Amino acid sequence: MSLRCVESGFVKRTLLWIMIALWLLPALALAQEPAGETLDPTTPVPVFTPTPTLTPIPRPLPTSTVAGDRATVELFFTTINQGGTGLLHITGVGLAGCSTRFIVQVVDCFPVANDGFYALISTNMEQNPRKYPLDIFTWYDDTRRQTVNTQVEVTGAGFIKQNVNLAPDKTYLIDPEVERTEFARLESIFGTVTPEMLWAGQGFQLPILGSELTSPFGAFRTFNESFQTRHTGWDIKATLGQPIMASGTGKVAFAGFLDIRGNIVIINHGYGVYSTYSHLSQVHVTRGQSVRAGQIIGTVGSTGRTSGAHFHWEIVVNGFFVDSVEFINLWLPGMGS
Ligand SMILES: [Zn+2]
Repeated sequence: MSLRCVESGFVKRTLLWIMIALWLLPALALAQEPAGETLDPTTPVPVFTPTPTLTPIPRPLPTSTVAGDRATVELFFTTINQGGTGLLHITGVGLAGCSTRFIVQVVDCFPVANDGFYALISTNMEQNPRKYPLDIFTWYDDTRRQTVNTQVEVTGAGFIKQNVNLAPDKTYLIDPEVERTEFARLESIFGTVTPEMLWAGQGFQLPILGSELTSPFGAFRTFNESFQTRHTGWDIKATLGQPIMASGTGKVAFAGFLDIRGNIVIINHGYGVYSTYSHLSQVHVTRGQSVRAGQIIGTVGSTGRTSGAHFHWEIVVNGFFVDSVEFINLWLPGMGS
């Protein structure tokens, strides 16, 4: 009798534990699943899976040519979007160097062996859409100078609006001062222009292949329905711990922690081009290290100003955040034919 009681008590307890376990399992599974960034469900978010650009991009034909007395300037774009990038090719007999001026941006051209000079221009995502003068200053072996003038239209990029809901433990990051401090730190890194095509060889690629882009570059973002800012990169759907690859070949300019971007890697690709990889859980590289396109540099996390595990990816050209998806689809000298 007493033995049966013990047995029946044991069976009851076991059954109870099984029931508790069955009830807890789905909750545990949910807790382990990365939440992804919590965007307001009423916000329309364009989601698409881009084609990985691992195949070489062929050199395109210029879309227009502007000829000066001695210099010929080829443009590889017709207009530039807000937060867009454009490539110029400058050639001429005895051409020794050149620089370009577009809106607030003055940049030096860069030489390419047996192919004259090139220049990358970019626009602020907040630039008012209209036509602006583009000046190309050229100088020659015989010390003569010439300026070639044209106009380029900046077109509206149709940025969307989003609301992001942050948990109470992250709301201290909704602070314009924190954002200003971080931008100042980033600007000092992006301000260094390495006169070398570090990107040469494989070109650029997505840091995660075959995944959806979940939140677009340039979006007008409101955090917790109060603080307004801009989305300076693209978000790519990813799970906690997923490996992140370098978008292009270059040198690690920064590997550390920033308040908003969390654990971050910044790669210098040369001539004012940088890429950044934010909210990482682990960082696998150190400052000064050379990395190849496709090399694993860290893993997805939710450090910094996030509402869940997700991956934030930026490309910077001449100090402006540009549309990174558009950028990796551009042909650049050094990528081959
Ligand atoms: Zn983002």
